[in-house]
Amino acid sequence: MSEQMNNSLVQRDGASVPISKKLGQKPRPSVPNNEQAGSEQMKRRDFFKVGLAVTAVSMGGAAALSTLSACGDGTLVAADLEFEPATAGLTASHWAMVIDIRRVNDAANFDKIISACHKNHNVPQINDPKIEVKWIWQDDFEHTFADLDSQHLAHEIKESALPVLCNHCENPACVRVCPTQATFKQPDGIVNMDYHRCIGCRFCMTGCPYGSRSLNYVDPRPYIDDINPDFPTRTKGVVEKCNFCVERLALGEMPYCVEASDGAIMFGDLDDPSSEVCKALAGHLSLRRIAHLGTGPSVYYLLSDGSGGDENA
Ligand code: SF4
Ligand code: SF4
Repeated sequence: MSEQMNNSLVQRDGASVPISKKLGQKPRPSVPNNEQAGSEQMKRRDFFKVGLAVTAVSMGGAAALSTLSACGDGTLVAADLEFEPATAGLTASHWAMVIDIRRVNDAANFDKIISACHKNHNVPQINDPKIEVKWIWQDDFEHTFADLDSQHLAHEIKESALPVLCNHCENPACVRVCPTQATFKQPDGIVNMDYHRCIGCRFCMTGCPYGSRSLNYVDPRPYIDDINPDFPTRTKGVVEKCNFCVERLALGEMPYCVEASDGAIMFGDLDDPSSEVCKALAGHLSLRRIAHLGTGPSVYYLLSDGSGGDENA
């Protein structure tokens, strides 16, 4: 794998643009090639020690992390992380996803949705549940909403299958516990990853109550049939998850899963009353996963037509 493939997006006109620039970030150190792997392991170990020290200070409450700041709602965001939101392409003040349970089931298009995401994002196909990597997957209603008393819900709903993914939480626990700020919340609500900063400590995986994150326990590249050169591959020891297709939004395009869903998955600005997601949520009964935890998921599941507009959890 070439270093360029790891660090650049190749545009349609053939020009190569650093990933960090394309995603609205300032360039970061390049991903090591195989020859650099040994020294990189060393650097990652050192980084881990620093991360633990920072976490210890934070947990002791003696000092706030200098590179984190609190939003009005108390969410920690990477305010000083040299991150600037994309100004081109599609923009929003709060990106959100609405999944129509009945339509996604009727369409029976889970394979199409999942493979559109995984193929384009170079997610490895590892057929071992202990080490598999997934960004979006299929689950059943009762497991997805295990905290819900669904005893008297319509059979049709209880028997539903659902796509599940990172919820891009308003108060993301994963961001709070990450010692290196490898995961951070953008001003537009997307919880993103900087793979170069990830030290594989898995604090974020433990912090996420949704199991939305995967660690690359092995080198993922041999498990990718057809590498997409327009998206970076990851390395062993790096955590990954759905990124709300931030790279597509920067190009003015909707997420892959939305495009593949034949209208069953909607995506838009939750702060814009005229957006498709706001219209879909208004007057419809919807659910968010484990909403009582206060994480504030940005992924909503539409249950039914009707007039239960203020029943959104
Ligand atoms: S679902 Fe998990 S990984 Fe995604 S933002 Fe929320 S806490 Fe983080
Ligand atoms: S929004 Fe993009 S990255 Fe997230 S599940 Fe859908 S296709 Fe995958």
